[in-house]
Amino acid sequence: MRDLPFDLPTFEPGTVWLVGAGPGDPGLLSLLALHALRHADVIVQDALVDPRVVTLARPGAEIEPMGKRGGHASPRQGDINDRLIALARAGKRVLRLKGGDPFVFGRGAEEALALADAGIAFRVVPGITAGVGGLAYAGIPATARDCNSSVAFVTGHGQDGSLPQGFDWDGLARGAPVMVFYMALRQLDEVVARLLAAGRHADEPVAVVSRAATEHQVVLESTLGRLVADVAAAHPEPPALLVVGGVVALRRRLNWWRPG
Ligand code: SAH
Repeated sequence: MRDLPFDLPTFEPGTVWLVGAGPGDPGLLSLLALHALRHADVIVQDALVDPRVVTLARPGAEIEPMGKRGGHASPRQGDINDRLIALARAGKRVLRLKGGDPFVFGRGAEEALALADAGIAFRVVPGITAGVGGLAYAGIPATARDCNSSVAFVTGHGQDGSLPQGFDWDGLARGAPVMVFYMALRQLDEVVARLLAAGRHADEPVAVVSRAATEHQVVLESTLGRLVADVAAAHPEPPALLVVGGVVALRRRLNWWRPG
């Protein structure tokens, strides 16, 4: 970008940049992400990326939607890896654009490993992960000094779509004052049942944050005990996060976000 007082790295042909696009609002893109959008030959785009982000692409850039989305037919991870490698070998500047951060529940590690094994040069451009930035748009801090000194990021989705196997729910419930679940909607009943069985209180504040940092953002505040019924009534849309813990109560004073 010419208007910056320092240089950003050159996007070399034949390389892949794995870039996080943040949770929604295109204003949350990093300078490196914008730089990559302005220089890429091909953008291989994840299903979660906000449509406004791609409008920043260089005119003439090819855009290939290739993402995994719960419940929909989606390309196999191996096919995505192969495609990235083939495009790089064809001498393209390949931008692999992902929602949030590429290394947080985004399979970015798998793609980077495949590129490393294939001997393709790559760069990782971190993005703002939904479990931090999306929560901020809901007026929920991931940590607050009087509330929690740690936070756990948990996936509600194992390899086969059900809850991750062999997960230590007792350890989580005991050790994590605040938990942020990604991909939790489909397994919500089970997540709640496990947390209650592991000793978390039914009156603990929780929130489901749906389509965070977009104009469609909806936040459902509830308690662990009421959550399943409240979600069944309100039907929050994916993508959504579940946050459990005292920080949720701060939303009453910190809910700054207004659509538009
Ligand atoms: N790499 C992404 C996460 C991908 S996993 C990141 O760092 O944010 C997909 C899950 O992320 C979704 O099921 C949802 O739990 C969460 N997510 C992503 N974008 C979101 C958004 N805008 N609002 C709420 N949740 C979101």
